[in-house]
Amino acid sequence: MQVKDSVVVVTGGGQGLGRAMAIELASQGAKLALLDLNEEKLQETVDLVKEAGSEARYYLVNVSEEAAVETAFEKIVQDFGALDVLVNNAGITRDGLLVKAKNGEVTGKMSLSNWQQVMDVNLTGVFLCGREAAAQMIKLGSKGVIINISSISRAGNMGQTNYAAAKAGVVAMTVTWAKELSRYGIRTGAVAPGFIATDMVAAMPEEVLAKITAGVPLKRLGEPGEIAHTVRYIMENDYFSGSVVECNGALRI
Ligand code: NAD
Repeated sequence: MQVKDSVVVVTGGGQGLGRAMAIELASQGAKLALLDLNEEKLQETVDLVKEAGSEARYYLVNVSEEAAVETAFEKIVQDFGALDVLVNNAGITRDGLLVKAKNGEVTGKMSLSNWQQVMDVNLTGVFLCGREAAAQMIKLGSKGVIINISSISRAGNMGQTNYAAAKAGVVAMTVTWAKELSRYGIRTGAVAPGFIATDMVAAMPEEVLAKITAGVPLKRLGEPGEIAHTVRYIMENDYFSGSVVECNGALRI
């Protein structure tokens, strides 16, 4: 697929990796539809896309709300007259141990609320946006691409029962959709980033971050632009479908 003039939806496009993807793709001539919860950040990304030489619109949408997602995708197709790519990027963390214990006493548990919040955004949000994007692409006859952002944590990571489960699920959906949607000419792909220098990672305690960086064979965090570059690769390579690209500085969990 050619990036120039393509219409790309990026969820969580207000900041971080989503913003970096929007700017990278805009610099290659893509038009952006940005979904997020934060209007101020969305407006900033729209301005940055314009600076990069392209156009963008934003849609205030919670990706885990079915009716809002359905309406947003209908609106995007009305506004742009096309839909070529969805990047399912919106995601949250609510880290914590499954069970905390000291001297044989259980002192804490991962709450159902923290489990559910991550499932709602990172798994249900990907399902809903993927479903609506596929439906619109089929109606439009668009040979589109759906790209899901997973994580190195999908292999299972301490303190991330909820997040790891959701990110593994995202890869399972990527493979399933490739099998189901190839007949319409729709491709899929996933990106599994390692630790990338965004607000989500900056929110970690400093000593945890130093330990993580020391454990990365390349001895640094990834840059958001490096994940955006990987997304562009999946878009541009017409024989790529149903697989995950790891971008992690050689870090394995
Ligand atoms: P971030 O927190 O900087 O940005 C996430 C964006 O998603 C925010 O703008 C937020 O408002 C938006 N968002 C959250 N919940 C939403 C909802 N319900 N509906 C719509 N928008 C919502 O995070 P980031 O670091 O840019 O991460 C982006 C994606 O990459 C996430 O899926 C994350 O799990 C994944 N990831 C990040 C890293 C990393 O190191 N940063 C590593 C692996 C995977």
